[in-house]
Amino acid sequence: MFENLSERLSGVFDRLTKQGALSEDDVKTALREVRVALLEADVSLPVARDFVKAVQEKATGQAVTKSITPGQQVVKIVHDELVHVLKGDGEPDDLKIDNAPAPILMVGLQGSGKTTTTGKLAKRLKEKAGKKVLMASLDIYRPAAMQQLAVLGTQIGVDTLPIVAGESAVQIAKRAKQQATLGGYDVYMLDTAGRLHIDETLMQEVEDVRNAVNPRETLLVVDGLTGQVAVEVAEEFDGKIGISGVVLTRMDGDGRGGAALSMRAVTGKPIKFVGLGEKMDALEAFEPDRIAGRILG
Ligand code: GDP
Repeated sequence: MFENLSERLSGVFDRLTKQGALSEDDVKTALREVRVALLEADVSLPVARDFVKAVQEKATGQAVTKSITPGQQVVKIVHDELVHVLKGDGEPDDLKIDNAPAPILMVGLQGSGKTTTTGKLAKRLKEKAGKKVLMASLDIYRPAAMQQLAVLGTQIGVDTLPIVAGESAVQIAKRAKQQATLGGYDVYMLDTAGRLHIDETLMQEVEDVRNAVNPRETLLVVDGLTGQVAVEVAEEFDGKIGISGVVLTRMDGDGRGGAALSMRAVTGKPIKFVGLGEKMDALEAFEPDRIAGRILG
């Protein structure tokens, strides 16, 4: 039977004699379980190692509270440390979109859920923040992708930039900026082209667009189910383009949320939103507590 981490830790301690404080051995036994659970949740090895070390320092010698069992106590320490890492330095998760029209650049690999997330976020900005949003697809390689964004726009009642054949990505970005300014939009979102793998041409194009519009937010959309790959993609995009935050998609899937922990620990960038399905309202603000609970099981 599958046991989650909370149960496993409680089990470890229930087998041990109760003492006044958590002994080093008790903690060691528990930490082995924590490490395995983190790796099973797709947290990368170095991140899991650092995490276990931090928990060890906090747990060793801590007095056992009468009201909770040692197992529960370690679970709480692990939970608090997960939230601590996921939260980072308490950077605000809201978007910097004050000076209208504020450009938001959406970047990521093809299939990560970038176009869907662009629509979801536009809808959210419109409905929750009352913003007037314009969306533009810069995917000059895939007319179907441009069409996809236009269809989403109609569906959610958000304007999209009219499609003009033959323009470069930078030209489209500039036209979006112009239209956003003239049309009194608060935000314009640029859905850049993605490729199956990171390559020079893709990066150069995104960089040119970035230089042309100077985005207020550059959000990297990554598939939360890809674990370690998602973290590598984030490092690559951040190194070349500079990202302001991450959106983890497919968090409605089977993954345990480990990618979130690695992402935060390795890149230091805030996870701003999580995608929880294909529907246009399946986007939520990132909540460290929830992901911590999910990793713990
Ligand atoms: P893009 O190539 O990065 O623009 O990817 P798309 O936005 O076209 O998304 C690819 C597929 O993933 C589509 O079928 C989306 O409906 C689906 N998708 C996007 N985000 C999520 C999510 O958070 N959860 C699930 N289950 N599916 C998603």
